[in-house]
Amino acid sequence: MFEPDIEKMSLSDIRELQRERLAKMVKYSYENVPMYKKRFDDAGISPDSIKSLDDVSKIPFAVKDDLRQHYPYGILAVPLERIVRLHASSGTTGKPTVVTYTQKDMDTWNRLMARSYAAAGVTSGDIVQNAYGYGLFTGGLGFHYGAELLGAMVIPTSTGNTKKQLMMLKDMQSTVLACTPSYALYLTEAAANEGYDPLNDFNLKVGMFGAEPWSDEVRKRIQEGLGIRAHDVFGMSELYGPGVAIECTEQNGLHIWSDEFLVETIDPETGEVLPEGERGELVFTMLTREAMPLLRYRTRDLAVVNYEECGCGRCHPRIMRIRGRSDDMLIVGGVNVFPSQIEHVLMNIDGVGDQYLIVVDRAILDVLQVRVEVAPDFFKSADYDAARFAKLMESELQAVLTIRARVELMEPGALPRSEGKAQRVLDLRKQ
Ligand SMILES: [Zn+2]
Repeated sequence: MFEPDIEKMSLSDIRELQRERLAKMVKYSYENVPMYKKRFDDAGISPDSIKSLDDVSKIPFAVKDDLRQHYPYGILAVPLERIVRLHASSGTTGKPTVVTYTQKDMDTWNRLMARSYAAAGVTSGDIVQNAYGYGLFTGGLGFHYGAELLGAMVIPTSTGNTKKQLMMLKDMQSTVLACTPSYALYLTEAAANEGYDPLNDFNLKVGMFGAEPWSDEVRKRIQEGLGIRAHDVFGMSELYGPGVAIECTEQNGLHIWSDEFLVETIDPETGEVLPEGERGELVFTMLTREAMPLLRYRTRDLAVVNYEECGCGRCHPRIMRIRGRSDDMLIVGGVNVFPSQIEHVLMNIDGVGDQYLIVVDRAILDVLQVRVEVAPDFFKSADYDAARFAKLMESELQAVLTIRARVELMEPGALPRSEGKAQRVLDLRKQ
């Protein structure tokens, strides 16, 4: 463990620390950020009324749009001179979402990342090949400085240039790969095409994969393809970046670093706090953020939080795997469908390749359309019967999703590959 005193805290000690920090943070936000002062005043609550952890539910939610509305520096709680870093996430429309950090925020974020690496079994002796994008996106620098703080060696390859990535994996004998899960999947495929045998040519042991939801089936393919243990990393730029929660070596849920984040699960429709163990939208309160406090920030991510002690000895609550974002949910023929459910079904069928694309078209919204690549070996084999294979997939999809599906088979390599976040849904309604 990187910070055993904090990582081994009991749940009751964590809660006591959270209570103290929450009260301080609420007062700090009220006194230093006009947006919070106005919201508290409008809601008729004073910072003094937030005493217990349950009182957090009295605080109005913060949402992504708050950051856009206060673009660029509106939620700052400190003078601009005290800011040492700025990141921004790309906005699909208009201005990006800007996040800022004081030196103390940077130190906290880097510690959380170092802890996350250590929880995944990474040590100071490891060589981390960091294929997250360096730049305004928090992935590159987040994974970079956390690894350095741990004492590991970092190779900052950044995204893209797949041939060079593969060469570095072999020549430098990198032991840890940090990138999006879809890129890890692509690297396994590209390695074979370039004549590498990952299990013999590479020395990889651990994967640190985040920034997009991925299924257990994709995990299995990456683990087997690269000979690694693949860890899910959760974060978002609004909450520092990556390193909010990490899957430990038990690979059974992602520990939320709860000395820094207070998590709630809410009903995404009504905003009501749900009882422990129920699936809902994750809401985070940052407990020590100095530059840009965020109270009750709605993530749109849907998951269950588990408060039981983990086999690794940590009591920091765990996010059981994220099923998808409420924003990603498709309604097909009146039924709610998550892309991750479709991935789950497809990746369990022998002969299905690693790439698929869900197509949403207004004209045929009652039918699910999926383009699926066939695995190269199966495509070449004598057993391959396209019509029969498509029918099999359609019936498996219908059995799980309860809606009709139309599968279009693609040759291996036909669908576009991504070096960052994968595009799994093509929404023709937006074009
Ligand atoms: Zn654990």
